[in-house]
Amino acid sequence: MSDESAIRIAVIGSGPAGFYAAGHLLKDSQATIEVDMLERLPTPWGLVRSGVAPDHPKIKSVTRVYEKTAAHPRFRYFGNVTFGEHVSREDLLEHYHAIVYATGSPLDRPLGIPGEELPGSHAATEFVGWYNGHPDHTGLEVDLVSAERAIVIGNGNVALDVARMLVLTPEELAPTDTADHALEVLARSRVREVVVVGRRGPAQAAFTNPELLELGELTDADVVVDPEELERALAVHDEAAEQDVTSRRNVEILREYSQRTAGAEGRRRVVLRFLLSPTELIAGDDGALAAVELARNELVAGEGGALRAKATEQRETIPAGLVFRAIGYRGIPLPGVPFDERRGVIPNEGGRIVRADTGEQQAREYVVGWIKRGPSGVIGTNKKDAQETVDAILADLGPASSNGSAAALHPSSPDADALERLLRERQPDLVTYEGWSAIDRYERELGERSGRPRVKLTRIEEMLRVAASEEP
Ligand code: NAP
Repeated sequence: MSDESAIRIAVIGSGPAGFYAAGHLLKDSQATIEVDMLERLPTPWGLVRSGVAPDHPKIKSVTRVYEKTAAHPRFRYFGNVTFGEHVSREDLLEHYHAIVYATGSPLDRPLGIPGEELPGSHAATEFVGWYNGHPDHTGLEVDLVSAERAIVIGNGNVALDVARMLVLTPEELAPTDTADHALEVLARSRVREVVVVGRRGPAQAAFTNPELLELGELTDADVVVDPEELERALAVHDEAAEQDVTSRRNVEILREYSQRTAGAEGRRRVVLRFLLSPTELIAGDDGALAAVELARNELVAGEGGALRAKATEQRETIPAGLVFRAIGYRGIPLPGVPFDERRGVIPNEGGRIVRADTGEQQAREYVVGWIKRGPSGVIGTNKKDAQETVDAILADLGPASSNGSAAALHPSSPDADALERLLRERQPDLVTYEGWSAIDRYERELGERSGRPRVKLTRIEEMLRVAASEEP
């Protein structure tokens, strides 16, 4: 496929941000741009495969857009290739005109309180990866049998996903692509109550309206909100929240929940609590998590006027055998690439990577998605975000290739075949798009037999075995 005059771009990571960047590059370029996408796993789609809740299949249908990009003749996919292990930044700069990092935010943010590592305390990132069949989290031990109460810390959509997954019935989970190992454990769950804890109030919660509404429509769980706590939190005026349509609607929904009467005996409960921050996770005699101590907060004006949570002297202890920490995600530094430790992102200006110390632009290196702006927004947010970066790339490459300064931007070895040879040498188990298509077909066929969209392969070896049936 390679054309000597082609501009070759490597995209690292195959989640929504990576695919939108690839799509824009292939669509917008006047010149001939070739895109190679490198992905650590054999399977693409990032959080669409391993983050979006299994009971939200419509959201996952966005992959059809990415499939179109992948079918483009100037696109190649190299799965099971780890940046920094099989290929370095220097290798890529040698073979490509530009690199776009789209590696997301795979780590959880820690709470930084005693007891965080106790058995029974889990990062939401791990739990979400586990029920979605991410190979990194297949072995997670989640004990849903010993505990009747779980506490989810955080007031974002991930907290709601986790809470919902803990109370969906086996019948509700049956037609989803939840990983088989998780279906088994969830079916035996004895968790009766899930308490979702926000450090601020209902008006400051990061939930979006459809996700909050969904919580009130569960088959076997009631949503419970204490009207007194709700109104106490709402008594502090928040001008920004007042102006925000999502926040206003959230408050309406929560007020309606607070007026609901208790459901039938024996039903599960999702309790939404506010103005509470965990201060310690407490172990029981067996050394596992037994309770959470929380500080009651008040809302005070912080810097820039936004309300922040301030702990009072009051404490509350809630017995619970499980905690899920859903307080946001963090990026991981990539070897040789600048990193802002405080924000957990690659420092950049509009997608152009800059050095953290000098602010100087790092030529030919760009960034998109969560590793660019932090873990915020929905899948579609990445489309616009990727466009900004692609515009910067085209602006940087465009004039350079026509005004004679192109040499400075040119890689020393822009040969597509050479790069593929190098990758195959270093990773004989490289998975191409054909390999992924074989995995995809295999999973869908398994799913069809049991009325599910797919049965996910959750181990790399299984994926490689199936992919190999299509590899040249
Ligand atoms: P998020 O929306 O940023 O929410 C994080 C929550 O954690 C906030 O309530 C935050 O409270 C709280 N928090 C942060 N630090 C804390 C601490 N030290 N102690 C207690 N609470 C703390 O993050 P997310 O839920 O991980 O979601 C990430 C992004 O993915 C979001 O944009 C989300 O909308 C999106 N997403 C969307 C869907 C969907 O569309 N269905 C599903 C999942 C995720 P403060 O506000 O007080 O900081």
